[in-house]
Amino acid sequence: MGLFSKIKAGLQKTKASISDGITNIINSFTKIDEDLFEELEELLVMSDIGVETSLKICEELRARVKRDGITDPSQTKGIMHDIIVEMLGCDTALKLDTKPSVILVIGVNGVGKTTTIGKMSLMLKDSGKKIVLGAADTFRAAAIDQLGVWADRAGVSMVKSVEGSDPASVVFDTIASAKSKGADVIICDTAGRLHNKKNLMDELAKIYRIIKRELPDASIETLLVLDAATGQNAVNQAREFKNVADITGIVLTKLDGTAKGGIVIAIHNELGIPVKYVGVGEGIDDLQPFDAKEFADGIFDLGE
Ligand code: GDP
Ligand code: MG
Repeated sequence: MGLFSKIKAGLQKTKASISDGITNIINSFTKIDEDLFEELEELLVMSDIGVETSLKICEELRARVKRDGITDPSQTKGIMHDIIVEMLGCDTALKLDTKPSVILVIGVNGVGKTTTIGKMSLMLKDSGKKIVLGAADTFRAAAIDQLGVWADRAGVSMVKSVEGSDPASVVFDTIASAKSKGADVIICDTAGRLHNKKNLMDELAKIYRIIKRELPDASIETLLVLDAATGQNAVNQAREFKNVADITGIVLTKLDGTAKGGIVIAIHNELGIPVKYVGVGEGIDDLQPFDAKEFADGIFDLGE
């Protein structure tokens, strides 16, 4: 399956909710009036785009309809598609311009951090980069083993310690290993204990201190992993994490199998953090760079 079709396939359920819903509404109107805007707005809210963001999209839709003198309801769908593409922008490339660069992967348990690291390792390795993983989720032994399985699958090396050891010291060891191997990218897994905010904050602060001390000029990407299937809850998690870390991008996992893909738009608009990658399955190839147009094409079937 090609890249494009994978995202499209992953967005099937979201499309069924958004695109088909919009078409049904549009077909029941013969002219554009306030009722139409209100029904569209309601549909967007119901599709996990969030109230604030849905209002913004519809406000812009009203303005464009007025500006361009549009009278045919069927044209509103294409306009909404374009508004969403513009809203999502295109700032998705990872900034990995130092040797080594660091990617710190954060997020609550079960969202797909470790899986994403496995997928990302292969992707970066295939682009010619030498990768070292750091198993800094030391909370459970199983988490360390799981990352080890992904390291083997992707064919990259991993630095680990024992369960319960200090995550920052694992990061320290990983940096040392990356330096001696001449690695290009360090990717660190972390434990996501958001319910204990103080602890998490201290842990992350300590990790950052080690990175800044050992690699003062390194590019650091802090990727927050969110599970699309959790809908608005993912937005709330992002808000919480934003308070404890300088998030540079979001990886939205499990887009496959959920109708809540609209959450991408809410996250982008409400938090101002770009969605850089999306997970569309459990396999090693199921990670895709996020592309606003591809995404909008996937959720709006414009009948092309
Ligand atoms: P972590 O606790 O954040 O490290 O999460 P894991 O990487 O262990 O993933 C939790 C579960 O989510 C696993 O069963 C993964 O296979 C699954 N998972 C991760 N990403 C995706 C995805 O993009 N799509 C689907 N369907 N499942 C995923
Ligand atoms: Mg994990």
